[in-house]
Amino acid sequence: MSDKNAPAAKAKPGEPVVFGARDCYGNQYKTGSEPDDSIDKSLINPATGPLYIETAAPGDVLKITIEKITLTGRAMMEKKYFFDVDETHLIFDETTGLRLRLPLNPMIGVIGTAPKSGTDVPTHTPGEHGGNMDCGLITEGSVVYLPVNAPGGLLSLGDLHAVMGDGEVSDFGAEIGGEVTLRVDVCKSTLPTPAVVSKKAGVAAIIASAKTLDEAATTVIGKMKTHLVASGREENKARMLLSLASDLKVCQIVNPLKTMRLELPLELFPIN
Ligand code: CA
Ligand code: CA
Repeated sequence: MSDKNAPAAKAKPGEPVVFGARDCYGNQYKTGSEPDDSIDKSLINPATGPLYIETAAPGDVLKITIEKITLTGRAMMEKKYFFDVDETHLIFDETTGLRLRLPLNPMIGVIGTAPKSGTDVPTHTPGEHGGNMDCGLITEGSVVYLPVNAPGGLLSLGDLHAVMGDGEVSDFGAEIGGEVTLRVDVCKSTLPTPAVVSKKAGVAAIIASAKTLDEAATTVIGKMKTHLVASGREENKARMLLSLASDLKVCQIVNPLKTMRLELPLELFPIN
């Protein structure tokens, strides 16, 4: 992701936009028997975009409301295992006696804006601009807050998963293509970013990525505390409240930087 990428499309704030998304291999695996050297590595982990949001200027915050995630075709893992997906479940291990139906939780693995000028970030890597965060809260109905570093914000997304557990512990989600319908509003906000609000989960979370989980944890805790203090709470009270009411969770441990989130019940999270 880069402020040098030319916009693929433009949208007005609040206008519904549909992003098409290929799977994380650029839809190159059809049967799972494709030899590795037949795969164009430059097409791996694609992000669709960028979308230029009219009026978005550096210093603003994009408020991205994810209205719908539609999955297309089968999900895949490890380049060769395919899984059927019905309206509600992924069918796992169908050909053995250990068949399972896993409830779907369609999520967006990669969603980000242009990073600060001169700091281009590959789509594999998460960061302060968002990117490959693989946060299981970024689902249908969620609201994602991302920074605007370049005119128009330049929003891109991809890497849909039909379902994935926190941590992405074996390198992959249930990788799948599809479509994402969203609306983007432009805010003058002091909210720390990246952040996500999930009414379904009843939480708001601040997300951070770093070389180690310890560093990412320190960052999310610090940002959440700063946000509570900026919203009027005394610093020591903010620290104590986080110890009592927030949950520290791992988004993923498999990308070039690791990602954590700090969740707070929605009613305790000031949105301004
Ligand atoms: Ca990912
Ligand atoms: Ca993925």
